[in-house]
Amino acid sequence: MSDVQLWRVAVDAPLPEALTYSFAHPLKRGQLVNVPLGRRKVKGLVLGPTDKVPDFEIKSIDSIDEEYSPLPEAFMKWLEWLAQYYIHPIGQVAQSAFPPLKKTDKQRQSKRPPVIPKLESDTNLNLTEEQSACFESISQHHNFSTHLLFGVTGSGKTEVYLRLLEKVLSEGKRGLVLVPEISLTPQLIQRFARRFGDKIAALHSQLTDRERTNQWWDIVEGRKSILIGARSALFCPIEDLGLIIVDEEHEPSFKQDEKLKYNGRDAAVMMGKMMNCPVVLGSATPSLETWKNAVDGKYHLHTLRHRVANRALPEIEVIDLRKQKDDSEEQKKIVEKYSHLPFWLSPKLYDRMHEVLDRGDQAALFLNRRGIAQMVVCPACGHTRECPNCDISLTLHAHSHLICHYCDYHENFKTKCPDCKEGQLEAIGLGTELVETDLARLFPGKTIARADRDEIQSRADLEDLVQKMESGEIDILVGTQMIAKGLDFPKLKLVGLVLADVGFNLPDFRATERSFQLITQMSGRAGRHVQEGEAPGMVIIQTFNAEHDSITFARNHDFEGFAKHELEIRGQLSYPPVGRLVSFRIQGTHLGKVEDTAGLLARRAHALKAQFPQYNSIEILGPAEAPLSKLRGQFRFHLLIKTTQVAAANPFSRQLLGDQEWIPSGIKILIDIDPMSLL
Ligand code: ADP
Ligand code: ZN
Repeated sequence: MSDVQLWRVAVDAPLPEALTYSFAHPLKRGQLVNVPLGRRKVKGLVLGPTDKVPDFEIKSIDSIDEEYSPLPEAFMKWLEWLAQYYIHPIGQVAQSAFPPLKKTDKQRQSKRPPVIPKLESDTNLNLTEEQSACFESISQHHNFSTHLLFGVTGSGKTEVYLRLLEKVLSEGKRGLVLVPEISLTPQLIQRFARRFGDKIAALHSQLTDRERTNQWWDIVEGRKSILIGARSALFCPIEDLGLIIVDEEHEPSFKQDEKLKYNGRDAAVMMGKMMNCPVVLGSATPSLETWKNAVDGKYHLHTLRHRVANRALPEIEVIDLRKQKDDSEEQKKIVEKYSHLPFWLSPKLYDRMHEVLDRGDQAALFLNRRGIAQMVVCPACGHTRECPNCDISLTLHAHSHLICHYCDYHENFKTKCPDCKEGQLEAIGLGTELVETDLARLFPGKTIARADRDEIQSRADLEDLVQKMESGEIDILVGTQMIAKGLDFPKLKLVGLVLADVGFNLPDFRATERSFQLITQMSGRAGRHVQEGEAPGMVIIQTFNAEHDSITFARNHDFEGFAKHELEIRGQLSYPPVGRLVSFRIQGTHLGKVEDTAGLLARRAHALKAQFPQYNSIEILGPAEAPLSKLRGQFRFHLLIKTTQVAAANPFSRQLLGDQEWIPSGIKILIDIDPMSLL
């Protein structure tokens, strides 16, 4: 048995390291194999040979999984980077690299429509000057380089992507296009299908396992040359990759928030590095992470400043919802005239809706309901309370005290507004359903559709909604931000943001950035097809905080000003992208035990910092109760690590967790590197 070799195998189990197995036959790195693990049989990915003999009994690999060829080397490197960077078991990372079903499973005739519709092909549009310039400068690159395509809403970014892909295909290479799950609309797939016909494959959450498996093989066996998908499409190994595009790169949904907590955008850039191909990140509201990289010269910046065909950007008007202290006769008349309006609808928005609808155009009202903590505002001055240490909103607990979820700062909640000393702080509850009901009463005879997670649950629902918006069957669309992206409706002329403030008060240092993005993106749906000379689209923003940074910059379409201002604020407190953040969530069913473990973790962190000078710059925040302090029966605490020494974050976190044997049974500690949300 002299040719028996030892191999490192990443097995499908929550083990921090790969295991060692023997095998008497030739084997290659990247091969999927079947191995014994305890009494179970599991899949494993071969990482490579080893001559380190472990101090436990070595078992033999059962067999090679003949269905799959070894994964490409660059792809293997990428999987290893993911496991290393995000501190996640390599065996579990590896499992994502294979389709859910066997290729050989019987194909049943499916009644579902094809994943990629068969459509008449269209022809290229003539690129605008700006588009050509961006296309030319990006397409000069053939090796790894990262590009930010920063283009205002409706500036024709997608057309630039299509051209770049066309060029890549003509050079015999292939392309990968990542979009947020929610933007992966039938509209978007159709647009690609019209241009590239049957060269397209798609991967997204609405597919069945069978469809997913087939799409995967279509790419891997080279029948298709462009893969368009949500973040998980990255896990489909594409050889000859010539271009990776990440559209709406700022979207938080690129971050997976369970298991392997990777950011699809960052992982895409790393993929481009491993595969040595250009990566294009596109957005009208780039994330500050990406923007900083562009400003620092790490990414190439390409800008589309104008909408195509001289279409105007929408006019943005801000309505201040704070109660007016105005007893004049005139004001009384206005109040009288509009007394039938619900509290959330200003006379201005109401009048504008009438105008647009009377012309036969469409209106859309958006309400960001993402806020979990009930919003508390002073109706007189718009005041909301922030943590004196962390600059994030305090969250109300049990109607009695306000808490900072970063550093655990507490104070009593007083209903009298501490700012203007006049108003009484109020909790506001408002949802899309209420808005829909009120509108039905105010606009009888108009067709209203509601689009939120309760109403739109499948691709078919969304397709149906899009079709009804396009045909003009729907007059008023009411929805959450889930529908605010990527949609392009010619007759949509008015967008109303019912209560822009909902996002401001999230206990998250990114709340202002998110609000700016949402306001800009939602506004960007208005008037996308107005012709030269025609009135531009209209946006009305209702708010209690008219002077909020996210509003003042958004109303002037001033992303760059916003980014500069916000980056300064981030820098003052070393928040990303200036500093680095790692979050540890401690959870379990027993509150006392969770709290004790959180305390233990914090003590370990302080000890580690004291021991090693290279961890000098690390700040330890908390432990504190997580904003969602109890979820599905689990109590949740968190500890945050903040540092301006980017390179220290990963080794510190690794050492802090250690072998994890110190964690009491029944308690889980989940690590999140570069967290997007700290709920
Ligand atoms: P973005 O992705 O930047 O929001 P899109 O690529 O969706 O913008 O383009 C907005 C609209 O402009 C689409 O309806 C698209 O078909 C159209 N469009 C894009 N480029 C051109 C062009 N060069 N000439 C005419 N129309 C264009
Ligand atoms: Zn704080």
